Amino acid sequence: MLFMDFSRCCEKLEATPGRLDMIDIISKELPGLTDDELPVFVRFIMGRIFADWSSRKLGIGPNLLYEATAAVAGISRDKVIDTINRTGDVGQAVEDLLSVKSQTTFFHEELDLVHVYNSLIAIAEMEGKKSQREKLLAVRRLLGNAHPLEGRYLARIMLEELRIGVGEGSVREAVAKAFSVDPALVEHAMQALNDMGEVARLAKAGPEHLRNVRITLFHPVRMMLAQQGTIADMIKEHGEIAAEFKYDGSRFQFHKKGNWARMYSRRLEDVTGALPDVIQQLMSATDHDVIIDGEVIAVKDGKPMPFQSVLRRFRRRHDIAGAQEAIEMVPNVFDILYLDGETLIDLPFSERRRRLESVVKQYLAPQTVSADPAVITKTYDDALAAGHEGIMIKVRSSPYTPGQRGKNWIKIKPEVDTLDLAVIGAEWGEGKRAHLFGSFLVACQDAGGKLVPLSRVATGFSDEQLAEVYELLKDSVVKQAGKEVTFEPSLVFEVGYAELQASQNYEAGFALRFPRFIRIRDDKDIPDIETLDSLRERYKRQATSAQAYRG
Ligand code: AMP
Repeated sequence: MLFMDFSRCCEKLEATPGRLDMIDIISKELPGLTDDELPVFVRFIMGRIFADWSSRKLGIGPNLLYEATAAVAGISRDKVIDTINRTGDVGQAVEDLLSVKSQTTFFHEELDLVHVYNSLIAIAEMEGKKSQREKLLAVRRLLGNAHPLEGRYLARIMLEELRIGVGEGSVREAVAKAFSVDPALVEHAMQALNDMGEVARLAKAGPEHLRNVRITLFHPVRMMLAQQGTIADMIKEHGEIAAEFKYDGSRFQFHKKGNWARMYSRRLEDVTGALPDVIQQLMSATDHDVIIDGEVIAVKDGKPMPFQSVLRRFRRRHDIAGAQEAIEMVPNVFDILYLDGETLIDLPFSERRRRLESVVKQYLAPQTVSADPAVITKTYDDALAAGHEGIMIKVRSSPYTPGQRGKNWIKIKPEVDTLDLAVIGAEWGEGKRAHLFGSFLVACQDAGGKLVPLSRVATGFSDEQLAEVYELLKDSVVKQAGKEVTFEPSLVFEVGYAELQASQNYEAGFALRFPRFIRIRDDKDIPDIETLDSLRERYKRQATSAQAYRG
């Protein structure tokens, strides 16, 4: 497939508002693709380059792309940035600039889809001192051969923000339709493989290939997630349930084969290097080849430490030996997804737990199994007394469903008034903080995933935290106007507040009274932030509890 044909398809999808029409367009493209093209097309159309399980990064930041565009279009970098500010979209800007250029150049080497993919892989693999320069040259080569329309989508793919409205759900439906297989089978294969490209290839080969998927060691699968609920409802619905402490630390997925092990974070980043002591602990806890799921917490004098100290360890790149002494890390293992070549996610939780207990000797999260509300409530009280966050209640007959926030895992914890919100803008600080961002604009999301500004947060930061936040955000600035900057959303803050008020000051229709920065949630992504619907729920609940309080 020519990259031009792929670009035309993107253009068509971008102009198609209806989801069903989009599915139709994609499903018609898929059968004609070769085995090499199919996975690339499927990932590209979702704005991804690598498999979801991969922690590979392309390593092309906006600045590098602007510079390459400037060189190809024969203009200054500032001109490129001006065009982006004017169009509000990198892709459109690159397209405009290339169309001016293409009036003066006549030579094009036609770009091929798989060739573009291979070039991007080569770019991702460039490492070392000269790599920035090499990457720049490679991006220049690609853009130099691109027609304007191709430039639009190349630029967006390189920044991993294709934004043509094609989500994983649509692609799942399109794959099912194209190869006449059950969408549930596609979804199930995706849960085990965590790469829609590979899933499409199996779908093409036939439904039995999808049915026989196995989890692969060192290809992390998405974590199963929890919803809120109550002890009473869970017992009413399921009778005997399993309750475990809810540890306030960092989620991990540990893969081990023989003497080789890796550990992945909730976002599936490889964090093996940051946690050698935890790797050692888990290696010695079992002789088997396993994938296990758990939460690592920090402990000092027998008491769990705040979540922040665990995160610091996850992010740490230097002085690992020093950090090991300061805080003791304790893994708590609560699930098993793979054992000695066998994929276990479809087994009921009670059976997975049995296998887990038979092969992992240490660090198992204790479990209480009961249908008696008093017994489960006692576990909850014990959890809080021991300094944990609350409890998790799990349905014993349920499979492990990667990436799903279903009703089979329920979290029970005291109501705390904090929200996880996306950082979308900031204002430069003042005085000694003038070189840092000072106050931040944060947003929740509506039902369609659109970000909706909710509040400004200017308090609760230490100098150290402001410096850290600046480092994390400085490369995400997409616009500057006076003291105001706008970010490409990437970072999530947990924000505390005293009260939720109805207000027209922000688009969300609410405002936070006394908003206060609590911490960076670097275990959460933008799609995980608070929704408008749940804000409305909170607002309602707040009104009823205030009434109850007032009598
Ligand atoms: P939340 O992040 O508030 O949605 O709560 C779900 C998270 O609780 C999971 O992603 C885990 O990181 C964490 N967690 C702590 N203890 C457990 C447990 N026993 N079982 C499952 N998840 C747990």
